[in-house]
Amino acid sequence: MNSGDKRILLHSCCAVCASSCIERLESEGWKVVLFYDNPNISPESEREKRLDYVRRLAAAYNVELIVGNTPHSVWQEVIRGFEAEPEGAERCKRCFDLNLHLARAAADSENIGCFCTSLTVSRYKNSKNIIAIGSAIEGYAPYDFKKKGGEERSIRIARELELYRQKYCGCEYSVKTSSELESDCSYK
Ligand code: SF4
Repeated sequence: MNSGDKRILLHSCCAVCASSCIERLESEGWKVVLFYDNPNISPESEREKRLDYVRRLAAAYNVELIVGNTPHSVWQEVIRGFEAEPEGAERCKRCFDLNLHLARAAADSENIGCFCTSLTVSRYKNSKNIIAIGSAIEGYAPYDFKKKGGEERSIRIARELELYRQKYCGCEYSVKTSSELESDCSYK
């Protein structure tokens, strides 16, 4: 099987996280299709800024990019009642679930059987939670991209390509806690 026969959709939470995931997937023979939607990210200017760097990453690695446009209000409805939860708790699980279902839908629209997410790269994200949520969705490939030095490689690529390294995870509630972090997500 050549890579053209083996496509996988990679949900990209940001360019930095996605970078080493692309390399790992390609090293395993996958043809990567990037997907960016992320209705959790607020404000919209921040969502657009992160998208801009994902576009640069896609160009640098010569991979296709699919861009979604799910309104932030959809995410707000999904996490309603859990706004005050600490980062990593129920609000985030619901956020992961939404993003992974959006990735599944995007994969379906492109007739791609498998999908995975760059969310597992970051030390600030619980890979077990993400993989448990993803595994309930058909076609999810349970990559823990932290392994094999994934996060360290992402940081090196970010420096080489001068990618944007955001200071908070993404939603309006994570902005409030960003002062506690030297750097975030994704927080590369
Ligand atoms: S902190 Fe990050 S993962 Fe959690 S709800 Fe906000 S955007 Fe989603």
